[in-house]
Amino acid sequence: MEKIYPWGDTRRFNSYARHFRERFGGRVQKVAVNVGFTCPNRDGTVGVGGCTFCNNEAFSPSYCRPEKSVRQQIEEGIEFHAGRYRKAEKYLAYFQAFSNTHAPLEELQRIYNEALEVPGVVGVVIGTRPDCVDGAKLDYFARLAEKHYVTIEYGIESCNDETLRRVNRGHDFAAAERAVRATAERGIPVGAHFILGLPGESREQMIDQAAKINALPLDTVKFHQLQIFKGTAMEKEYLSDPERFTLFGLEEYIAFFTEILVRLRPDLVVERFAGEAPPRYHVGHRWGLIRNEQLLAMLEKHLEETDNWQGKLHKS
Ligand code: SF4
Repeated sequence: MEKIYPWGDTRRFNSYARHFRERFGGRVQKVAVNVGFTCPNRDGTVGVGGCTFCNNEAFSPSYCRPEKSVRQQIEEGIEFHAGRYRKAEKYLAYFQAFSNTHAPLEELQRIYNEALEVPGVVGVVIGTRPDCVDGAKLDYFARLAEKHYVTIEYGIESCNDETLRRVNRGHDFAAAERAVRATAERGIPVGAHFILGLPGESREQMIDQAAKINALPLDTVKFHQLQIFKGTAMEKEYLSDPERFTLFGLEEYIAFFTEILVRLRPDLVVERFAGEAPPRYHVGHRWGLIRNEQLLAMLEKHLEETDNWQGKLHKS
């Protein structure tokens, strides 16, 4: 008989698909929205150069352009997905580009209320920086979360202050801890994003982060292998000293990520563990065009072959 893991199915990690099935009873599709916000690390609020790795272009689908209204972007996004995948009946508006809480509260209210009025939209996912929320904004999101699915997703990127300084992140890990706790305390689900392979960070340091991640009141986590994007400060840094970077090969990364996964608490939903932007955007080591489902299949095969699963080494 197949083993059932603590999250209630036979997959060897706590998947986003399971989380959505449980929450919504079926498939839910995320639709990206770009409202044209900038970011405090670019507009001078915190800094001007931005994070050394940042190229938001690489992650913005063609249908979402800030000139269009929120409603229009969502409707076009639904059309776009309906033509490619099995039709979902429920949608989440995903505010991914830049920092989506970096505006006065009234503007945030207008934008998120508009998104939630579009037929089929059952919730919003809000990507932002940890230093870009305050009590009044979080109270507003908490009120929205009473009636809708609302998740705030913080770019934490690394738990090591030295790394955060090196990539000009403009905030430290303590800022991330404060934001995650203030969000969770209000009953709002919280996600976090991390990059594996940032310059100067050893594999041991990356693996050791699992304990810090487990200690945060997070609901979902996303990881990405480091990719170096054209036109960024990191590209220059990489070209002048490639040895300082860990650019994982595909199989190597899957084995490495497993070292983190076995240390993560079982109730953390793993939304993503890798992803490749289109090759035209980045330099250095490339995996080639690979789809998310292929990556997931490779991870599952590796977990099976090595008899590993999420939380196998986690001590509660
Ligand atoms: S990665 Fe995010 S926080 Fe950093 S510069 Fe880009 S938009 Fe701003």
